[in-house]
Amino acid sequence: RRAAFAALKGEVPVTKDGQRITVMVNAGLRDDVAALDLTGADGIGLFRTEFQFLISATLPQREGQRRLYRDVLDAAGDRPVTFRTVDIGGDKALPYLDHDENGDEENPAMGWRALRLALDREGLMKVQARALLEAAAGRTLSVMFPMVSEPWEFDEARTLFESQRTWLEARGHKLPLHVRYGAMLEVPALAEVLDILLPKLDFLSIGTNDLTQFLFAADRAHPRLAVRYDWLSPSILRFLRRVTAEANAAGVPIAVCGEMGGRPLEAMALIGLGIDRLSITPAAVGPIKAMVRSLDRAAVTQAMAQLLAKPPANLRSALRDWAEAQQV
Ligand code: PEP
Ligand code: MG
Repeated sequence: RRAAFAALKGEVPVTKDGQRITVMVNAGLRDDVAALDLTGADGIGLFRTEFQFLISATLPQREGQRRLYRDVLDAAGDRPVTFRTVDIGGDKALPYLDHDENGDEENPAMGWRALRLALDREGLMKVQARALLEAAAGRTLSVMFPMVSEPWEFDEARTLFESQRTWLEARGHKLPLHVRYGAMLEVPALAEVLDILLPKLDFLSIGTNDLTQFLFAADRAHPRLAVRYDWLSPSILRFLRRVTAEANAAGVPIAVCGEMGGRPLEAMALIGLGIDRLSITPAAVGPIKAMVRSLDRAAVTQAMAQLLAKPPANLRSALRDWAEAQQV
């Protein structure tokens, strides 16, 4: 089976009825980029920039950041890369950063982390913005912000990047040809203001790991809870269907970059909800390509509509039965 997946490297993930599915990988280290060639993925849909911060003994400086981002872009060649600005804070506390000004956090996942921290620590975000803008000189820069909870947070982050672009330009630096700005949807509240948010975005990416823990109010790392709530539940799937429909209607590209998209049955369900861009762990690319190539999108769209109209007691087993009957 492993050999069969490796053989899929050169195969295009297209459904039986001709829908091209973009299958990208999640990455965080320089060496992760090798996964692009190994898997034949379409690009990097999520580059977790905080990895460099987490493995460093001191705060990474602009030069060190720029070098990493440029190496990643060079290695990716003409395949797109989406950089996520740092998602630190909360449980990813850094020894060299003063987290204490906010006191101890009882709920770090819901605490001062990611974009919340970055907007308060403007210096940190400015350095990262400059490093990204310089690294992508002469190419397209795609950047997205984690844990956006209200549209104004996206506005502030974008404005900060744009001011750094102006700053660099005034000093004669070479700039990206184009900068694309996206938001991650991980906080459920954001789904209620998509009419305000979507017109501002170049793309939207759903982080199903955090989104699920906030929708179910269940710690994503808790072993007891991990088995209790299923990604293939009516609440999550209906939520994702609504968000996907709104983004598609607004013409805003939408992707799923959480672990959910790396599981064949879950990815199949996502395609049935209108998702056609996935960013997943590299090891999942082969299995997901194989699933896509055996799937009829029109059929799974219809199946999902029926299953969500009147959900069976066990949606997962119903979906598995459907997939087996269809030979997916
Ligand atoms: C997510 O929350 O789904 C996500 C992709 O981000 P991370 O796993 O890094 O929190
Ligand atoms: Mg997340």
